[in-house]
Parts: sequence; structure tokens; C-alpha cells
Amino acid sequence: MNIFLIGSGGREHALAWAIAASPLTTRLYAAPANAGIAEEAQPVKVDVSDPEAVIAFCRENAIDLVVVGPEGPLVAGLVDHLAAAGIRAFGPGRAAAQLEGSKGYTKDLCAEAGIPTAAYRRFTDRDAALAHVRATGAPIVVKADGIAAGKGVVVAMTLAEAEDAIRACFDGSFGAAGAEVVVEEFMTGEEASFFVLSDGRTALPLATAQDHKRVFDGDEGPNTGGMGAYSPAPVMTPEMVARTMAEIIQPTIDAMARRGTPFRGVLFAGLMITDTGPRLIEYNTRFGDPECQVLMMRLKDDIVTLMLATIDGTLDKMSVRWRDEVALTVVLAANGYPGDYAKGTEIRGIAGADALEDVKVFHAGTTSDGTRILANGGRVLNVTALGRSVAEAQARAYAAVDKIDWPDGFCRRDIGWRAIARET
Ligand code: ATP
Repeated sequence: MNIFLIGSGGREHALAWAIAASPLTTRLYAAPANAGIAEEAQPVKVDVSDPEAVIAFCRENAIDLVVVGPEGPLVAGLVDHLAAAGIRAFGPGRAAAQLEGSKGYTKDLCAEAGIPTAAYRRFTDRDAALAHVRATGAPIVVKADGIAAGKGVVVAMTLAEAEDAIRACFDGSFGAAGAEVVVEEFMTGEEASFFVLSDGRTALPLATAQDHKRVFDGDEGPNTGGMGAYSPAPVMTPEMVARTMAEIIQPTIDAMARRGTPFRGVLFAGLMITDTGPRLIEYNTRFGDPECQVLMMRLKDDIVTLMLATIDGTLDKMSVRWRDEVALTVVLAANGYPGDYAKGTEIRGIAGADALEDVKVFHAGTTSDGTRILANGGRVLNVTALGRSVAEAQARAYAAVDKIDWPDGFCRRDIGWRAIARET
């Protein structure tokens, strides 16, 4: 079949790599793509923010399946437009993507379905929100309701920080995303990411992962889109997975179906594993980036078959197998990220790193000028390796990182530290 992949990050390179390996794939196109995706797929110039342009491209090229990587087009309803045009697309429609698009929506759903999560209140009035945090005290968590690229969440350790965060939201720092604010109870525990596929009725557990949000070693510095990840997450024991499915995932899938907005796609639960068990931090309605890179590295089964079963409602007949090894990915970012950084700097040595056994370099913000690979974004490469332990996967990933010659980039040197501490 002919497949069109939308996106341009490391997540989409990993998806392109997995889709290209499928026996079902005849042709694979991608937009906006990057230099790595261009090795697996034919990059095409299509304005992916314009549903009519996407539909026209699909018709001209006899596309059988559209795979939407990032949240933006999902929340904007691209999948609904494609479905109305009779084109199969992988990912939730606009209504179901509200699980990511509105934190207040998800919190209300959790309350309705009895899903364990932080206690919360929603506010559209600044003074009411300020009065609430003054009455409750710190630590407390303040979130812009909508999508703010991970920047709309403040875990406030003092009342002053909480008040500042509320003022920033209502002062328009996050645009429309901050018109409503969710104030939450502060939860403590270890965080983990859990991924499932849902066809609207059946939820098929995929795998677990842990990421590293802070920019510097030791989880210091500002938050980023993610500086590395590994899978599986040791904290997600079989018992914890079973509890998460029973207490969080299936009640969500059932509640979405009851609301008449069945969830079809990848559901990514950000969890806090607390003393009393798993509690939901947030949902995303697509694969994580860089978590997708480690998941695709471990996936033994055909991703296209799984995506088609998700769309067609046949996940109850599916199972999924994973390599026993750990996969670990290290993000190389441009110097200065997550602040200002330069574009266009040359990266050498990727092929040498890629040639190492059980290593794959996924591209994120890269472009090619025909002969050279150039940095074209903040997060630029994802050096991914398999190993029998987290320590071995980490050693392989850093051996590959050290083959890459890019003076204008940096990475964390401690990806996997928490799991390695557990192993030793
Ligand atoms: P992402 O970039 O992961 O999509 P986001 O902006 O959607 O982030 P959340 O995942 O809801 O925001 O929160 C970001 C981080 O803030 C979490 O990974 C977690 O570390 C912390 N956090 C969020 N809510 C809570 C809470 N109630 N208690 C403690 N920490 C929290």
C-alpha cells in the first residue's frame, strides 16, 4: 500500500524506518520530513497544516494510509478531514485528541470515570485561581489548559511561584492555551510513560519508557522536549502495567466511547508511580518523541498491521511482541537549546555511528544540502542502541555518539542513570 507520513522529528524518522520495513508498504512519502526520513521515504512538499492540500496529495498519489506523527494536526482535526474524504488515517480525530488538547477536559473525564489522578480545579478567572492557591498552599501545580509545548506547566514549590504562574497564564504568555488554568495537587513518585493502541473499544498495551526532560546531567536546568529515553521502564512491573490498564487506560477508553468520541490511535499516558499505585499525570494522543525511537527499536511485529487494526477496530485479534533487550536513545541537540541556537552547522560521522552493531541514528532537526548533513533545529539526532541491560545499551549509545563529529552540538552523558542505579 501507499503510505503518507506527516511529521519531521525523530519520532517520525523512527516511524518511517519501521513503516519502510513493513511487507505491506509499497511506497512511503513524507512531509515535511528531514534528512534521515528522506533515506526511508520520498520527501514531498505538501502543506500539512492545510487539510485540502493533504487530501489532494493523497488522491493524486493513491495513498491508502496517512500516519499523523505530531499532536498539532491531530488536535486541529486533520484525521476527521481525511476520514470525510474516505482516506484512512492513523490517529484520533479532533474530539478524541482533546485528551491531549485540553488538560481540563482530561481531568473532568478522570473525575467522571474514577481514574486516579491529582485533585484539581479549573479556572477561567485569575483572581479565583489566585484565591484558590492561597487557600491551598504550595507545593502545587499550575497548568495552562491547552498545548504549550511543555512550557505551560509550573510545578510551584512556593506560593509566590504559583501566583506568578497564574498571572503569566492569564496575561497571555501562552496565548489561547492559557485562557483557562488547571490547578493541581502536587504528586510525588517516579514518572513513567506507558503506550497503548486503542481502536475505540480494545486497548492493546504496547510498551513502557522513561524520558529525561531536563537539559543537563543530573536532571538539572530547564525543561526540554526530551533529551533521551529508554524502554522498558523498570518501575513498570507487570503488576503496575496490569493496574494501569485496569484503573486508568480501560476506564478512559470506555468513557470516550460512552461520550460518543471513541479514541482510535496511540494513547500515551504520563504516569506518576506513587506509594498507592499508578496515577495519571497527563495524556498525549500520539507517540512520544524520543520515546517512539526506543519503542520502534524494540518492536518485533509489523507497525503497519498494528495501525490498520487500530483504524479497522480489530485490535482484539492482535498481539504484539517486543525484543527482550533494552533500547536507549541519546538526543544530540544544538548548543544553546532549549534557548537560542544556530542552524546550518555541519554534522559529520553519522554513517560511522549508524554502522555499529545494534545502533540506529534517528534524525530530528536535520537537512541535507546534497552532500552534507546540516543541523536544522534544536533537537537534531537521536542515537539509539540496544543492549542486554540499560548499562550495556547506554555504553553502546555513547560509543556511537562519540563517532559523531559535531562541535556545535551537545548531549546529556547520563541517560538511563536511574535505571542503571537500580541494576547495580
Ligand atoms: P509534556 O511536554 O510532557 O507534554 P505538558 O506540558 O503536557 O508536558 P505535563 O506532562 O502535564 O505537561 O507536566 C509536565 C511535567 O510536570 C510532568 O512530566 C511532571 O514532571 C510535572 N507534573 C505535572 N503535573 C504534576 C503533578 N500534579 N504533580 C507533580 N508533578 C507534576
